[in-house]
Amino acid sequence: MNIIRTMFMAAIMMTAMAGHSLADLKVVTTITDLARIAEAVGGDDAQVSALCPGPRDPHFLPAKPSLARKLSKADLLCYNGLELEIGWLPLLLNKARNPRIKAGSQGDMDCSGAIQTILDIPDGNVDRAMGDIHAQGNPHYTLNPENAVLIAREMAFRMGQLDPENKADYKARASAFAEEVANRLPGWNDQLAEARSKSIILYHSHWNYFTHWQQLKVVGEIENRPGISPSPRHVQAIIEKGRDLDGVMIVAAQWDHQDVAEEVAERIGTSLAVLPGYSGAQKGTDNYFDFIDRLCSNVAEAAAAIGKE
Ligand SMILES: [Zn+2]
Repeated sequence: MNIIRTMFMAAIMMTAMAGHSLADLKVVTTITDLARIAEAVGGDDAQVSALCPGPRDPHFLPAKPSLARKLSKADLLCYNGLELEIGWLPLLLNKARNPRIKAGSQGDMDCSGAIQTILDIPDGNVDRAMGDIHAQGNPHYTLNPENAVLIAREMAFRMGQLDPENKADYKARASAFAEEVANRLPGWNDQLAEARSKSIILYHSHWNYFTHWQQLKVVGEIENRPGISPSPRHVQAIIEKGRDLDGVMIVAAQWDHQDVAEEVAERIGTSLAVLPGYSGAQKGTDNYFDFIDRLCSNVAEAAAAIGKE
């Protein structure tokens, strides 16, 4: 009797395990923000991993073979697009040879397609050879939680196409994500009330969706072209501009040139906020909501510190 019972239990467990692995949609994202959104939407029905670790600047990622292996197993690839990953993702896709995620297939998701307003679209020709890395407009749209909601809904649609059995669950989880953003919005808005009366100099245009969302005033960038080290002449000009303004602060990501950001803040005599560039870029920001919380609280602190250095 016991043997039969054990065999019966083992059979149930094996069925459950097989069922589990079959039901799991393998989702690979490029940046961590997209991974956190995909996890929220995928729940128990998806296995999600990001190619670019949180602390790494995704403009420049070495195309390691281990990343191509990850891609070779993916059912769905969610990438940022707008050329953010142009330096490394095409290489990896080439090596991965995975028909499920090839361009135009159901598993190929350019998340920028879900975004309604792309900022900083250049007019005229942009010469990438000059080092300009935002040729199709500003790619850092995940820093606006309202865009994260649009992405979550599109991810739910895609996951539902690939895994129709769990379609309703994906949709319900995307709605829960949207609700969480709506619930937190008044708190984020309140937190940044004081910062709204100040001016901001960015190191890189990384923060434009965040500042646009929160109606913060950006008066300049330390970089004169996105992605290339600023010229001394431009740095001097931005310092002079900052000195002429009342209540200006500096905002940089932890992967920007800290020495330059610090020098500009010091010579203007104002505060510098060093923010996590994406989810998980700094300790305690692994969750997307914790990440946005951190951006809001650090900018609020830097705004409050202006004039108190
Ligand atoms: Zn950028």
